[in-house]
Amino acid sequence: MSIKIEHVSHLYGEGEAFEKKALDDVTLEIPDGQFLGVIGHTGSGKSTLIQHLNGLLKATSGTIYYNNEDIYQENYDMKKLRSKVGLVFQYPEHQLFETDVFKDVCFGPKNLGLDRKETELRAYKALKMVGLPDEYFYQSPFDLSGGQKRRVAIAGVLAMEPDVLILDEPTAGLDPKGRDEILELIKGLQETGMTIILVSHSMEDVANYVDRIIVMNKGSVMLDGVPKDVFAHYKELEEVGLEAPAVTYIMQQLKQNGFAVSTDATTIEEAKEEILRALHRAD
Ligand code: ADP
Repeated sequence: MSIKIEHVSHLYGEGEAFEKKALDDVTLEIPDGQFLGVIGHTGSGKSTLIQHLNGLLKATSGTIYYNNEDIYQENYDMKKLRSKVGLVFQYPEHQLFETDVFKDVCFGPKNLGLDRKETELRAYKALKMVGLPDEYFYQSPFDLSGGQKRRVAIAGVLAMEPDVLILDEPTAGLDPKGRDEILELIKGLQETGMTIILVSHSMEDVANYVDRIIVMNKGSVMLDGVPKDVFAHYKELEEVGLEAPAVTYIMQQLKQNGFAVSTDATTIEEAKEEILRALHRAD
């Protein structure tokens, strides 16, 4: 069970004067339960890529397999795919529209054709999963804070009980506290077994959380690996307008200055431990 992307290319405006190749022969496999970070500069193809995974965009060439089924085969159930591969767009709170939070979260499961009881059970469960206090359930979504609105919008997708959750820049516009809370929430969802695909332009954001990073550049996968291996290419990342997390630079600098540290640390905690270890060794 997985998502397999095979030689997928995507052209916007195919055959027209403004034709644009947004994806160029992308091949990737995303196993179940993985927390994948998709990083890249604006315009590198991240949004185009993720919109292929739930069938919102169709590949110009190549194909995609979801749980070993070709999603482009005749009679493939796209509606089911969209409920199993949930997509949380950038600033999803802009799409809240119902008079109260609970109704908003019911929208997705109701649209799947579920009966009222099942719809409401799922909405309740989803709101609990995102940690929204009960007293907000019957308030207008517009009265909530930015971070809470975003939780409600995420709950709206969770209520469809997806196996894969894709989030496009889920921390955009949030303050550092709101950002950490949303990332912790997402990490918690992965721990329940969900596959998570998180799109971001910030390495710093994802370094602490993801199992694997793919770096997109000009519609292709430029790097693919565990965070420490990807960050080891920090010079190439800079060439395409990306930065490794600050910790990477500090450890590289310490090493260059003759301090015997390994440069593998990707989080502040790991860096602290490595520096303390090196200090002990030097005693
Ligand atoms: P990212 O999400 O990394 O910012 P996108 O997938 O949005 O990148 O865009 C990839 C490329 O495709 C960019 O050059 C962008 O200008 C172009 N593009 C995106 N959407 C469209 C569209 N609807 N029509 C034409 N070109 C588009």
